[in-house]
Amino acid sequence: MAKIKINVASGGLMKDETVPKKKIAVGIDLGTTNSLVAWVNPASGNAEIIQDRWGALVPSIVALPPGAEPVVGIEAKGGLVTDPQRTIFSVKRLLGRSYADVQTISEHLGYRIIDDNNEQLVRILVDGKYYTPIELSAIILKRLKEKAEVELDVEVTGAVITVPAYFNDSQRQATRDAAKIAGLPVLRIINEPTAASLAYGISGDLANKEHSVDSNAVTAELDKTTGTSTETSAKNILVYDLGGGTFDVSILSLEDGVFEVLSTHGDTALGGDDLDRAVMEFWLQGNPSLRALYDQADSATIQSFRLAAEKAKRWVCSNLDQEYRGKLWWNPSSRLFQVREERLDEPPSDGAQGVATLSLSYTELCSCTQKIIEKTQKSVRFALRDAGVSAQQIDEVVLVGGSTRFPRIQQFLQEEMGFKQVNSTINPDEVVALGAAIEADVLSGNRSDVLLLDVTPLSLGIETAGGLMDVLIPRNTKIPFKVAREYTTSVDGQVNMRIAVFQGERELVAENRKLGEFILKNIPAMPAGFPKIQVAFVLDANGMLTVKAKELRSGISQDIEIKPQYGLSDQEVEQMLMDGFVHAKEDVEKRMVQEAINEGKQMVYTAERFIEKNHALLSEEEMEGTKQRINDLRSLLENSDSDRNAILDAVTRLNDYTRPFAERLMDQAIAVALKGKTI
Ligand code: ADP
Ligand code: MG
Repeated sequence: MAKIKINVASGGLMKDETVPKKKIAVGIDLGTTNSLVAWVNPASGNAEIIQDRWGALVPSIVALPPGAEPVVGIEAKGGLVTDPQRTIFSVKRLLGRSYADVQTISEHLGYRIIDDNNEQLVRILVDGKYYTPIELSAIILKRLKEKAEVELDVEVTGAVITVPAYFNDSQRQATRDAAKIAGLPVLRIINEPTAASLAYGISGDLANKEHSVDSNAVTAELDKTTGTSTETSAKNILVYDLGGGTFDVSILSLEDGVFEVLSTHGDTALGGDDLDRAVMEFWLQGNPSLRALYDQADSATIQSFRLAAEKAKRWVCSNLDQEYRGKLWWNPSSRLFQVREERLDEPPSDGAQGVATLSLSYTELCSCTQKIIEKTQKSVRFALRDAGVSAQQIDEVVLVGGSTRFPRIQQFLQEEMGFKQVNSTINPDEVVALGAAIEADVLSGNRSDVLLLDVTPLSLGIETAGGLMDVLIPRNTKIPFKVAREYTTSVDGQVNMRIAVFQGERELVAENRKLGEFILKNIPAMPAGFPKIQVAFVLDANGMLTVKAKELRSGISQDIEIKPQYGLSDQEVEQMLMDGFVHAKEDVEKRMVQEAINEGKQMVYTAERFIEKNHALLSEEEMEGTKQRINDLRSLLENSDSDRNAILDAVTRLNDYTRPFAERLMDQAIAVALKGKTI
């Protein structure tokens, strides 16, 4: 039976849904401040940013209104001031990091980061629900995917996603997981500076473009052997990326179409926000009454003042020979500042009071931000030194990040550092996404002139606690390749460790293909978490995989050799890939539940050991309270359909309860130790 669909809003007939949509691959810049999605338009052959009615940039902000769908982008931005606890920004800074990693930045964020366990990946608590940075990044990625699908009326079947060159294995894996939750197959994760270079067409000859994937320190040395040498001269590229809150400088070398990261340097707490703060400070200095208001300001008030400074900064950056003039108004009821450049003497209708007349010239902007410019200059020097190249040996400089629109930056790079070729013709906040789109186009086979390299068609990894698949070599990785990751034991005195190797795209090993296993024996008995067991995967150019496990403290080791593709037909590979895509979302969700269970079990184990060891030093009440919370957690763990949130909640409750006396006992132990010394 034929059905006719009518669009209620427009009254028109809707397209028949059975007409297959055009399938495209996109490039995504998942930024700290802003994210973008781009594609190569087949009509023009050029990479283009996909725009909607809000423009090109999607602010990387997720608002989590209670009982409603998350909101992403410009529409979520207002929440930074009005609802900071439910408005998550800068999530990229938390991605793939543990609480110990992010402790110093967590106080600047308006939302709550859980500090249960220093070793675990961080979580964010909003309205009683736990979110991982992976889930929050997935919400942003999903929004970008939908943006492309709606604006172009296509189906997005794959994406190249960019990450900073310094991202470690865990941060890259977290990015892949986020894409899985978003229902977005990852064609490849590439480095942001590599993508920016690609956008400028810095890629060697096109026939070798397929090589132009990023290589991290581990693979660089191996990668070099794969290049078919049609082009021989190496090129050095410096990528200077000053965004909203971070600064990265990377030096790449390009040889035979293969990019290699020679060095990276930077500052994770330096960016356009600091330029804004410098302007704020400049204004405060000449203005005691403004200073008085500012000194009592809360974070929302400061944010509103920073936005005023940012506005002035951006204006001056595009009007170099004029002076910015504005009037700052203060609204005592909302406690927010607002700046206005027109009708300076006419008070706003909301009852705001005039605080100060503000001005800013380009010369003033340069002098108040001089220290920041010098800091980046220092990083550039460090990066050059680490890469072992001089400024004269840099063939191309590529500018990335909205803050490089500040002309002072290009000026210092050319005049003070003496770089020859500074590329700034492509919009610096779009250049990374455009490069990613080019790479996506190549990988999705749209360029017949591209040579295909050997890649591993399925992911390779090992089984970890709870039957989870821990991927060491993601699918589509160029071979040869090698990687190593460290693991540890979960039980005291554990002397054997089973290393089971699997292949496939599913999150639970039970659904993947087992390639082999061995047992690392005779690990010296040590407390849980103490052994350092390094598992290395080496995949050679013929596709042979060697898996080696080594306990680093004692040096004992064991290995096996496997041929992963052996006995696997192309159809079977395809089927395994399909299964991975089809189940991606539910799989990651299952894994997150399993991870919560693992964490819960670990917590029960630790807490039981703790009360057993310290029962003499704990009060009756403390003992009972702890036991009760352990039992609560344990019964959740025993119930097979427990909710992830409930488990994490029980972990937090047990942890919050025991923390004060754990700290007290620690103090006592230190006191005893100190006493021991003085005798
Ligand atoms: P991120 O890489 O952190 O996601 P972006 O590359 O989008 O950030 O850069 C954002 C920064 O760029 C902000 O600090 C913003 O003030 C700054 N910026 C944007 N446009 C301009 C401009 N025209 N002049 C100066 N700074 C700008
Ligand atoms: Mg950026």
